[in-house]
Amino acid sequence: MKRVFLAALATETNTFAPIPTERRHFEEWFLYRAGEHPHDGPTLFTAPLWSARKHAAEFGWTLIEGLCTAAFPSGRTVRSVYEALRDELLDDLRAALPVDIVLLGLHGAMAADGYDDCEGDLLRRIRSLCGPSTIIAAELDPHCHLTEEMVEASDLLAAFQEYPHTDAMERADHLVRLARDASEKKITPVTAVADARMSAQVFTKQAPALNLVNAMKAAERSGEVLSASLGHSFAAGDVADMTVRAWVITDNAPEQAIRSACRFRDMAWAMKETCGARRMTGPEAIEFVSKVSDRVILAEGADNSGGGAPSDSMELIRTLMGAGVGPIAAGPIWDPLAVEIALARGVGARFELRIGGKACALSGRPLDLNVEVIKIRRGATQCFGGSIWPMGDMVGLKSGNVFLALSTVRNQAFTPEIFTGVGIDPEAQRVLVLKSNHHFRDAFTSLSNHILYMSTPGVAICDPRAAHYLSVRRPLWPLDSEASAQAAQTSWLKGSSQ
Ligand SMILES: [Zn+2]
Repeated sequence: MKRVFLAALATETNTFAPIPTERRHFEEWFLYRAGEHPHDGPTLFTAPLWSARKHAAEFGWTLIEGLCTAAFPSGRTVRSVYEALRDELLDDLRAALPVDIVLLGLHGAMAADGYDDCEGDLLRRIRSLCGPSTIIAAELDPHCHLTEEMVEASDLLAAFQEYPHTDAMERADHLVRLARDASEKKITPVTAVADARMSAQVFTKQAPALNLVNAMKAAERSGEVLSASLGHSFAAGDVADMTVRAWVITDNAPEQAIRSACRFRDMAWAMKETCGARRMTGPEAIEFVSKVSDRVILAEGADNSGGGAPSDSMELIRTLMGAGVGPIAAGPIWDPLAVEIALARGVGARFELRIGGKACALSGRPLDLNVEVIKIRRGATQCFGGSIWPMGDMVGLKSGNVFLALSTVRNQAFTPEIFTGVGIDPEAQRVLVLKSNHHFRDAFTSLSNHILYMSTPGVAICDPRAAHYLSVRRPLWPLDSEASAQAAQTSWLKGSSQ
C-alpha cells in the first residue's frame, strides 16, 4: 500500500489590495484541520484530495489527510498567519511520514508579508521533510506565478487549463494518475518551462485562447507530453515571477519537453493582443446601452473580489444613474456596515443609507441613497464549479429603479443567485452590473447577448499598464517594447536523468 499525504493551502494575493488576508478569511471560505475535510464535495483547491479519495481503493492507496484551507483573494497574508498555517500543514506531514506521495491543492500566487512565493517556500520545506524519493505533486490555478523554486522542489505541477476554472476536478484526476505512475516508476517526469515575458488575460472558452487549450489537450492525448499547463500571469501580483509561462511534463524526454513548452509559449505570445477582452469606459458602455433594446451586462473586472478587490466601488453605478440608464441591478457589493444597518431596520424599511466607497482610494466615493430593504438572506451562498461559495449575510435594496445586492463576505458574481436570493429579478433589468471579471460568464450568458468588459479603475489590475510595479522582472509585454518571448532566456528544465 502506498502512503499518500493530502493537504491544501491556497489564496490568490493581490499585492495592491488594501485588506490583508487574516486567519478569519481562511475560516470564512474553508479551514479543515487534519482529517476534517467533509465528504459532501470538493472545493476549488481540494479537488486533488477528492480525486485521491475516489481512486484510493483502485490504486491501493492509504490516505492521510492534513490541513486543507483557502481564503478568497485579497492583500498579502499576514506573516504570522501564513507561518502558522504552513507549520500546521508541515506538522501534519511530519506525523504522517514516511509517505510515498504528497498531493497538494495550491494556488500559486500566494504572497505573505516577507514571502513573495509562499508555494515555493512550502514545497521546499515539504521536500526537505520527505526526502528525494517522495513524489510531490500539486494542482495550481493558472493565475499563478510559477517559480523555479516551485518546480525544483516538486515532481509534478499541473494547472487548471480553463478560465473560467471549470476543470479543477478533471485536472486533479489527471494529476493523481500521474502521481500514481511516477510513484510506481512507470514514468520519470521531466518538466520544461518556457517564459513568454508577457502578461495578459487569457479567456479560454473563446478563440484564440481556446485553440491553445485545445493544442495542449491534443498534446496530452497524443502522448507528445504527459501534461501541459499555462500560467496566465496574475497582473495584480507585484512579484518577480509575474509573467505568462508554459510548462510541460514528459516521460524522461527533455528535448521534447523543451520543444513543446516553447511551442505553447509561442502560441501565447502570438495571441497576446487578442486573448482577453476589449474593455470599455463608462461613457462607451452608456452609448452602447442606448443603441440596443435588450439587456446588457457590464463586468467590472477591476473591482472583482475574485482578483482581490474590495468590490465596493459605486462609481460605475453612479455614472449609469446620472445618465438615466435603468432599471439597473448591481452586485455583489461588499459593505458589511451597510448590511448591518439594513438587517437592523428589516424588510420593508425605508431610510437613507451610505453604500460602498469605503475600503481605499480606488473604491471611489460612496453612494448615498434612500433605499427600501426588499429581502434579507442570512448565510447566503452561490454554487459554482461544483463548489458552494459563501456570501455571508446579504440584503437586497431598492432605490427608484436601482436594485443593489449587498453582502458581508467579499465574493464575486458567479451566478444570478446573487440577485434572485435577495428578491431582485435579473430579467426585469435593463443593465446588470457584475462585480466579476469572467467567472460569471457561463451562468449569465442566457440573460444577455451583450456582455461588456469594463475598463473602470480598481484594485484588481486587469491591464498591467494600470499598475506601478516595483518587483516584477522586466522587460515584460505590454510594459516594455523590448519584451519578446523568442528572446527570453529564462526557460528551464527539471528532472532529466540525462
Ligand atoms: Zn484563477
